[in-house]
Amino acid sequence: MTDASSTRAPLNWPAIIMFLLSTIPVVTVFPWYAATFGFDGFEWACFFVLWALNGLSITAGYHRLWAHRSYEASKPLQIFFMLFGAMALQNSILVWSSSHRNHHRYVDDVDQDPYSAKRGLWFSHLGWMLRNYESGRPDFRNAKDLEANPIVRFQHKYYLPLALAMNFGIPVLLGVLHGNLWGSLLLAGFLRLVVSHHCTFFINSLAHYWGSRPYTTENTARDNGVLALFTWGEGYHNYHHLFQWDYRNGIRWYQWDPTKWLIRACTWLGLARALKRVPEFQIRQALVQRQLQKVEENLGQIQDTSRLAALRQSLETEMQHYKETLAHWAALQQKRVEAAKKAVIDHIEHNEILQRVRELEESLRQQYLRVRLIAVQVA
Ligand SMILES: [Zn+2]
Ligand SMILES: [Zn+2]
Repeated sequence: MTDASSTRAPLNWPAIIMFLLSTIPVVTVFPWYAATFGFDGFEWACFFVLWALNGLSITAGYHRLWAHRSYEASKPLQIFFMLFGAMALQNSILVWSSSHRNHHRYVDDVDQDPYSAKRGLWFSHLGWMLRNYESGRPDFRNAKDLEANPIVRFQHKYYLPLALAMNFGIPVLLGVLHGNLWGSLLLAGFLRLVVSHHCTFFINSLAHYWGSRPYTTENTARDNGVLALFTWGEGYHNYHHLFQWDYRNGIRWYQWDPTKWLIRACTWLGLARALKRVPEFQIRQALVQRQLQKVEENLGQIQDTSRLAALRQSLETEMQHYKETLAHWAALQQKRVEAAKKAVIDHIEHNEILQRVRELEESLRQQYLRVRLIAVQVA
């Protein structure tokens, strides 16, 4: 029997109790309190700031730093993410990152992806945590690097006291300072936790259902600018599943990705370094390839034979152009390696190669626009 069909996996009571204890006050006491007493600006500010600190500790810390190693972070920054990540109550860095690595490795596999979208929206959003499914069984063999990190080990060992201290300690402290304990507990404590939870869970659920697939159709992950607004920039999930080691998810300057901006800002403060980026050429290559594939897939639907012949001809020309561009790029990479081997760096040669790479990127950008136009015609 496969894991997907074993719906009777044992219930995960600690998780169920945690979700009930955090959700029930939000749907019962919270609306009553809000209608009766209301909240002031300071309390709302605490809610937003703590939500941001929790959300960003998960996206910049748990996700892009620890699960994907897309950059390096200094110890103070790691400690910060470790504490506010514990406050987000999504398990330890070790458990979270290990299962996330499995999610990428086995994406959509109903037996091995811990939150496979192929098992339904509810399962990928929350259901996967409510039972001890075989697909979600912790196995840290894929996280030896994290087990070697003392900050990660410390958090894993003391996860429960850390999570409780952060979740109750900070809202209580803010409430006492502000002179309204209950207001702070409800808003900065309970509501913040529930909102922060579901916004992260959207990445496993909605970001695999709703949106476009401009880079790959190999998996269910989608790019969605609206989701990016609620997930600190993680809505560009189609890109992320193809290029998981890039520290950015929204790669264009105008794409809402506060996590990428935070990581970048940390480099200016000396808190982060060695940010990994996928070369622009490879990104453009994936975009063009996807459009060419789209045209190929839809050509069969064209009935008009003369139109079909013209479209086939255009596709062939574009395919040829694409192949030539890739060959040029490969040759330039070879040249680059050879230039790097030389004892003295030849700046003129180096600049020439860079110039040529930029021209090829531009050529792919133009080609993307052309092929997309053909794809629209055959859609
Ligand atoms: Zn995913
Ligand atoms: Zn990821």
